Amino acid sequence: MDLKNKVVLVTGSTHGIGAAMAVAFAQAGAKLLLNGRSESLSDELVEQLNQEKADYHYLKADLMKTDLKKFAEDAWDSYGQIDVLVNNAGINRDKLFIGMKEADFDSVINLDLKVPFFLSKWIIKKMNKQRSGVIINMSSIVGMHGNSGQANYAAAKAGLIGLTKTLAREGAMRSIRVNAIAPGMIDTEMTQKLSDRVKENILEQIPLGRLGKASEVAQTAIFLAQNDYLTGQTVVVDGGMTI
Ligand code: NAD
Repeated sequence: MDLKNKVVLVTGSTHGIGAAMAVAFAQAGAKLLLNGRSESLSDELVEQLNQEKADYHYLKADLMKTDLKKFAEDAWDSYGQIDVLVNNAGINRDKLFIGMKEADFDSVINLDLKVPFFLSKWIIKKMNKQRSGVIINMSSIVGMHGNSGQANYAAAKAGLIGLTKTLAREGAMRSIRVNAIAPGMIDTEMTQKLSDRVKENILEQIPLGRLGKASEVAQTAIFLAQNDYLTGQTVVVDGGMTI
C-alpha cells in the first residue's frame, strides 16, 4: 500500500509509540486521525507534524468511556475513509497475581483488548465495503511469554494476538490485512516509571544492550501497512530479548 493520502487512525497517539507513529505515517504522506484524552496534542508533537506538513484531525476521547461505534463513525466521516487502524492505546496495572484486584484486571482488559475488539468491529464493517484496509494491533512480548506481575497485561496482549490471527483470516477475502507488533522494552512513559533496578535487570536481558526507541516501533507499523502480502503476523521488536 502506498501510504500517500491514505487515512490512518492511531489510538492513544498523544505521546509514546502512538506519537512516533503519527510522525512516521505523516512522513509517508498519510492523513492522520489522532486520538488521546488530553484537550489537544502537545506543542512538541504539533511542531513535528507541522514540519511534515501533516494533514490531521485530533479526536479527543477516553476510549474506556466512549461509545466506540460513534467514535468509529465520527472518525470515518472525518475524511470519508480509513485505510489503516492502529490499535495502540494501552495501559498496564502491574501487581503480583495473588494481589491483583478485579479492577486491575478489568481496566487493562478493557483498554488493551476490548477497545481494539470493538473499534476493529466498527471499522472493519466500513472497510468491508471499501474492500481494503489494514489493522495493526499493539501487542507485547509479554503476551507471548508472560511476565511476573503482569497477568492482566499478558492476558490482554495474548488475546490481541488471537484476535489478530482470526481477523486476518476473516478479512483476507476483502483484502483487509491484520497484523500485530510485539515490542520488548521501549523507552516511553510506560517504561520510564520502572525503577532503576528493574531497568538494569531488563537491560541485561537485551542482546542489543539498550531499550528500543518509539520511532523503531513506528517504522515496523509503516512496513506492516505497506507490505500487501503480510497478514496474521506478530512482528517482535525487542532488541533480541526473546531470542
Ligand atoms: P504510553 O503510556 O507512553 O502511551 C499510551 C498511549 O495510550 C498514550 O497516548 C495515552 O494517552 C493513551 N491512552 C491511555 N489510556 C487511554 C484511554 N483511556 N483512551 C485513549 N487513549 C489512552 O505507552 P507506550 O509505551 O507508547 O505504549 C503504546 C502501546 O504499545 C500500548 O498498547 C502498550 O501496551 C504497547 N507496548 C509498549 C511497550 C513499551 O515498552 N513501551 C512494550 C510492549 C507493548
